[in-house]
Amino acid sequence: MDLRNYTDAKNRRTALEQALKITLPAIGSFSLSEDFASHHNCENMVGAVQIPLGIAGPLDFSDDKKHTVYIPLATTEGALVASVNRGIKAVTLSGGASVTSHRAGISRAPVFVVTNGKAANVFIDWIETNQKLLNQIAQETSTHLKLISIKTWHSGRNVFVRCSYDTQDAMGMNMATIATEKMVSFITKETGVVCASVSGNMCGDKKANMLNVIEGRGIQTWADVELSPEIIKDVLKTTVPQFVETAHRKLDIGSRMSGTIGANAHAANVLAAIFLATGQDMAHVGEASTVMTEVEQGKNGVYVSVYIPDLPVGTVGGGTALETQQECLKIMGITGATEGENVKFFAHCIAGVVLAGEISLLAALSAGHLSSAHQKLARGTS
Ligand code: NAP
Repeated sequence: MDLRNYTDAKNRRTALEQALKITLPAIGSFSLSEDFASHHNCENMVGAVQIPLGIAGPLDFSDDKKHTVYIPLATTEGALVASVNRGIKAVTLSGGASVTSHRAGISRAPVFVVTNGKAANVFIDWIETNQKLLNQIAQETSTHLKLISIKTWHSGRNVFVRCSYDTQDAMGMNMATIATEKMVSFITKETGVVCASVSGNMCGDKKANMLNVIEGRGIQTWADVELSPEIIKDVLKTTVPQFVETAHRKLDIGSRMSGTIGANAHAANVLAAIFLATGQDMAHVGEASTVMTEVEQGKNGVYVSVYIPDLPVGTVGGGTALETQQECLKIMGITGATEGENVKFFAHCIAGVVLAGEISLLAALSAGHLSSAHQKLARGTS
């Protein structure tokens, strides 16, 4: 049975049900526009999988002004939303998170094949001399894309050219790939140097890697807060020394011992839940989870910060256009297309909620409450 031969999800699902002698009523019951999703998001569509959606908040944070937001989290992990909600309460009662960001840009890095090291140097010189022209060629492919930088590396007969783009509100991977392909054709025509793959892995797409941590990818984002001893005691049910010691032993020593890229409590949990709710590409959770969480004892309590060096997110394009995902963006006040302000605000919301998630889990671990929370809120039945 070739499912491509069927015209719509219902026919395809019925054929599958008959072939497997099962029924799929839940998969067949969905509100998404099949026409849109089957043309933009998913081939051989037979229906939709549903994930429970919870709301955490309100979260207060400030960038160049103050914001109060509710955060949509799609998850099947019981206790996650409750835990994040507690962290948000601690952050908000502490005056809110302070958030900043920098657009590193979305990258695509083709690999070119040269004859030897000297030829690599000649080729790299040509790329550097012609950056302005290459930018013009890239920009012809989109009204929302600009080349931010081109960086090169070579080893043996391989030259990697990492092109990073500002793609405004879009996460931008399709846009970056289309622009890079056009540049590659021009480069090969002018230099005779052949490209082996438009994606040579030095773009760092969908793999946790140190290059993205150092260079940044997408929107690099920072959030921090100072928690008073009272908030640590009353909201987080632990003490300053316990909190700080747990953070040190887990984040500094445990992460070092295990060779983790980044050092955080469970940033991927929060990233996955907000990515899922808002139609981000879930495969980017791997690279986005290289978060650095810092905890320091100060005179007035504890300073906690998160740094997300690699946050490839968008508020237009990809899965963000699906109806339920659009509604989740709307919950955070994100609607329509801007010149990149929406995606910056979205990245700031993410940084604030990741910070809250880190605080709550570190507190639970330091007080020995992790398994009791999961036992109370998340034991499954089968
Ligand atoms: P996209 O949906 O392919 O492109 C975004 C579109 O939105 C462009 O056509 C752009 O206009 C338009 N747009 C309208 N208003 C905009 C605004 N304010 N800011 C930015 N763009 C605006 O989305 P994408 O973000 O480039 O790519 C995301 C998709 O790529 C996801 O589905 C992801 O899974 C997939 N992906 C692709 C690759 C790959 O290598 N191709 C790799 C990883 C992921 P213009 O027509 O002017 O550009």
